[in-house]
This record gives sequence, structure tokens and C-alpha cells, in this order.
Amino acid sequence: MRLGGRRRSSNVEDRRRMAGKPAAAAGGIGILVLALVVWALGGNPMQVLQQAQPPAQRAAPGGGAELTEKDIAAGQFAETILASTEDVWGRLFEQNNLNYRPARMVLFRGTTSSGCGHASSATGPFYCPADQTVYLDTSFFDQMADQLGAPGDFAQAYVIAHEVGHHVQNLLGRTDWMDSQRGQVSKTEYNRLSVRLELQADYYAGVWAHHEQARFGSLEPGDVREGLTAASAIGDDRLQRQATGRVVPDSFTHGTSEQRLRWFYAGFESGDLGGADTFEMPYERL
Ligand SMILES: [Zn+2]
Repeated sequence: MRLGGRRRSSNVEDRRRMAGKPAAAAGGIGILVLALVVWALGGNPMQVLQQAQPPAQRAAPGGGAELTEKDIAAGQFAETILASTEDVWGRLFEQNNLNYRPARMVLFRGTTSSGCGHASSATGPFYCPADQTVYLDTSFFDQMADQLGAPGDFAQAYVIAHEVGHHVQNLLGRTDWMDSQRGQVSKTEYNRLSVRLELQADYYAGVWAHHEQARFGSLEPGDVREGLTAASAIGDDRLQRQATGRVVPDSFTHGTSEQRLRWFYAGFESGDLGGADTFEMPYERL
């Protein structure tokens, strides 16, 4: 992506210098893989977070971890992409006579607290509806490149845009509606609603990419392919096969690789806020 000189969001809080002990310390590579699987299969972050470990000790004042140049660049990149989502969604909401309240973002390392409970690197990036905040440990981007075969800045932008997509759903009332369905429908049916929710967030990520390109022309050849690779790398079918060697469609909460890719691309092609009818169409046709 070409992002030089672009506005950076002021809605980002960087907690990486006061890093708690990384949850990965004990589990090593297994925890890293877990973070990827949890991110992609997690569904409701509250459930995941409630099972997370208690807060680790914070570094002593003044003794916090230093940020490397790579960390700083990753933070600035996240601020730039978040600013773009503010510009794009602000205008789209305005065009639909709606008021867009920007999401906040917290960058952290190791562990941190969130409005949805305790967050750790093993949770992966997530959006917390209670405090309307995206939580991101930027080392997740390295895991995407090294373990999922999804490298590149646009793949990272896709992850942020997907989480902001959940914020859009929150503002539009979809998140409250999902909560109202919990316990009212069977587990299988609720999983299906989760798939619809996630595919809609993928569609919204595509809508953002459409307008990012239309307004700023930042995409370079191969960027969309990067996003599609990321979308397909984190499909439930592929992750389940990697984790357990088999695929159980009833337990899907995010959709297959093919579905995620298709909905992201549909949003990218149309750029239309109203085109994400993932909750209306028959489940088999999603
Ligand atoms: Zn999601």
C-alpha cells in the first residue's frame, strides 16, 4: 500500500511500553498457533476472554519494554488504517443519514485489560462492543506472515478493517440483536448466526477497501490478492483441518475460506453499505 503522508488516527492508545508478561512465555509456539485459531474461530470475544489467564504482572515504572523500529512502524500503520476507516465510514454513514462514532484502538503486548475482560496475545485481535474498542497485539501480523502464509501490509489492513466491520455492526444494532438471540436458538443455529455476522464483517472490510482505493488510490498491484489470501487463510475449514485434521461445518462460526474470500470481494466490488444481506439469504447460499 502507498500510505506516505496520510493522516493518522488520534483514537489509538499505545500500551505496548507497559507490556505485561507475554502469555506466550509458557506455551511457546503452541500459544501462537492458538492465537490464530482463537482469532478466527473465537466468535464472541467475551467467551474467549473469560477463559483467559489472570492479569500478568506489569513491568515496573520506567522499566517498560522498548519499542523497536518495526514496532513503531506497525503502530503508525495501524493508526493510518484506523484513520482511513474513520474517513470512509464517516462519509458512508453520513450519506445514509447516520452518525458514525469512530472506534477506539488499543495496541498492547502480552496482556492488557479490556471492557470485555482480560485480553492476552493468545486471544488474537478482537473488537470489544462494550467499550467500542479494537484490541491489537501488533506481533499478530508476524504470525500471519510466518504461520498462515498471509504476509503484506494489505493483509494487515484487512484484519483491522474486519474488526472495524464489527464496530459498524455494533453501531447499526446488529451486535445487540445477536446478544438477544443467545439462549433463544440452538447452538447450531447460533453458530450459523455467527457465520453470518463474520461474513458481514468481511464484506464491510471489502467496502472499506473499495472506498480506500477510490479516495486515496493507495492499493498497489497484488494488494487485493494479499487481502484475499488473508481472508482465505483464516477460514474455519482450513483452520480446523490444520488444528484437528478434520472439518465440522456445524461448529463453524466464521465461514469457510471460500465464503470469506467471496464476501470480502463482494464488498470490494460494490462499495455498498446496504449490500451485505448475509442475514437475509438462505444459509446454504451464503
Ligand atoms: Zn470477526
